[in-house]
Amino acid sequence: MKAVVFKTIKCMKVDDVPDPKIQLPTDALVRVTSTAICGSDLHIYNGYFPQLKPFVLGHEFMGIIEEVGAEVQNVRRGDRVVVPFPISCGQCWFCASSFPTHCERSNPRHYGPEGGLLSQKGGALYGYTELYGGYPGGQAQWVRVPYADHGARKVPDDLKDEQVLFLTDILPTGYSGLRWANLKPGETVAVFGCGPVGLMTLKLAQVMGASKVIGVDILSYRVEMARRAAGALVVDASKTDPIQAIREWTEGRGVDVCVDAVGMESDRTRFFKKVANIFHLQRGNITAIERCFSAVRRGGRVSILGVYGTNYDNFPVGQWFDKGLRVQAGQAPVQNYIDELIEMVVSKKIRLDDIITHKLPLAEAPHAYDIFNRKKDGCVKVVLDPWG
Ligand code: NAD
Ligand code: ZN
Ligand code: ZN
Repeated sequence: MKAVVFKTIKCMKVDDVPDPKIQLPTDALVRVTSTAICGSDLHIYNGYFPQLKPFVLGHEFMGIIEEVGAEVQNVRRGDRVVVPFPISCGQCWFCASSFPTHCERSNPRHYGPEGGLLSQKGGALYGYTELYGGYPGGQAQWVRVPYADHGARKVPDDLKDEQVLFLTDILPTGYSGLRWANLKPGETVAVFGCGPVGLMTLKLAQVMGASKVIGVDILSYRVEMARRAAGALVVDASKTDPIQAIREWTEGRGVDVCVDAVGMESDRTRFFKKVANIFHLQRGNITAIERCFSAVRRGGRVSILGVYGTNYDNFPVGQWFDKGLRVQAGQAPVQNYIDELIEMVVSKKIRLDDIITHKLPLAEAPHAYDIFNRKKDGCVKVVLDPWG
């Protein structure tokens, strides 16, 4: 089959690779009909997460179930499904306690209680390096879905792929940020980063009844999309100080809830920070977290959805303590929220497909990675067709 293979930093190829097969009775085999590129894929592409061998990427995918193992009960051949990006067994202590991203079984080689180490992570993710389980991803024509009963979810046939594909990751990710922060109707929200994750968070904040929804980015075309697609107040941080603007909109206090949808590749990492990183073994920087801690009000809540791969010096603990903030970070527990989000999409409370700027055949994946990474061509979200 054809698949998008990470070869080395900034080098993707569409290669012929062996077809996946059912390996365990709890597996399903999915024929992928649509797949997308995520900001998290860029961390591998840019070398922030190490991957030494060629590897099939992709954790946002959907398709048709072609075959199921003998123990699979919830889905069957012919079902049209979306698949959450974390691989969770559904039965271990963490899965049973609603922590699917910390599954104790899906990543046996690199799982551990310490975490945050280059050699020790949480549960597995599709197509997300050997460290996260080494499972080939869904930027491919076929994909093996382990623990299919606890992952794959059926979606209605009358909705197009583009209307439901983002249930696999970016919609539940945005939702996780707002649920972690316990957002209540009437509260104010600021989201740093108006990429796909930030845009979904802004849209959801509107649906959840926030009184003010503010999007911040350093690229004017993305800020424009936040205004248009999510009806947000916006700040172009390349021109205007976002902290000052946010305080002006919130009587000087700051927002109730602030979300980091940027991650460690903030500002594409400046030179002096790169030098400092070499001494401190850091990858990227925590600018977005610093901005969130400034933009949120005292006693407010901060959700960190952007990915961070190492520890960082100068983490603003003093400010966190003085302002009495509640902070939560992590991979999104998609399995916890996907059913209610499917309902939200089916009942048309939220629209997902209006952030797609590029629909391309899988063969053009190297070009798609390039424009998504360099933020060229007005690129916000790319959907790939494995059979196009
Ligand atoms: P993206 O790269 O398209 O978006 C990031 C946006 O941040 C860009 O628009 C960029 O211009 C903007 N930005 C950079 N520096 C900024 C700054 N200083 N202030 C404001 N904006 C700034 O990626 P995405 O797909 O939207 O993903 C965003 C982050 O979320 C990534 O780190 C990704 O890995 C992470 N992510 C996390 C989860 C999770 O489960 N927690 C899931 C999906 C994605
Ligand atoms: Zn993702
Ligand atoms: Zn588990």
